[in-house]
Amino acid sequence: MSLDGTYDAGNIFAKILRGEMPSARVYEDDHVYAFMDVFPQSRGHTLVIPKHSTARNLLEEDPAVLGHLFGGVQRVARAVRSALKPDGITISQFNGAPAGQTVFHLHVHIIPRWEGQTLARHGGGMADPAELKILAEQIAAQIS
Ligand code: 5GP
Repeated sequence: MSLDGTYDAGNIFAKILRGEMPSARVYEDDHVYAFMDVFPQSRGHTLVIPKHSTARNLLEEDPAVLGHLFGGVQRVARAVRSALKPDGITISQFNGAPAGQTVFHLHVHIIPRWEGQTLARHGGGMADPAELKILAEQIAAQIS
């Protein structure tokens, strides 16, 4: 899907928000929902999405929603740092399939990084749901 198109309410993140699909929840407020990526590129790979949005990508989003979204990203990234003690954190966000986007509900990746560790492939192997739940609880415990 290119940058042009219409929002599909059947996308996986919309289903997670409606409770139709499971997710390992890390954090939630009135505006954002954060949960573990099931195909993590590193241990602790977390996603943050706007809860009330039909924007497929950043270009379509209301700036006020982006403010809430990135406030949530910072809050969760700080908690990831406290919980997992990474050496660095990659924050990424893709717009359109040619840029690497695969789910067309706006989202931001928080990817903890450790010295000397290469990233797993984007959309690679699936994580153990039980391990994701433990990680989600560890990160959630550090939310301030
Ligand atoms: P994108 O490629 O669109 O930037 O990122 C989509 C992300 O969603 C990918 O990192 C992928 O691993 C993740 N993902 C895809 N399907 C699911 C799912 O069903 N549950 C969760 N938690 N993450 C998913």
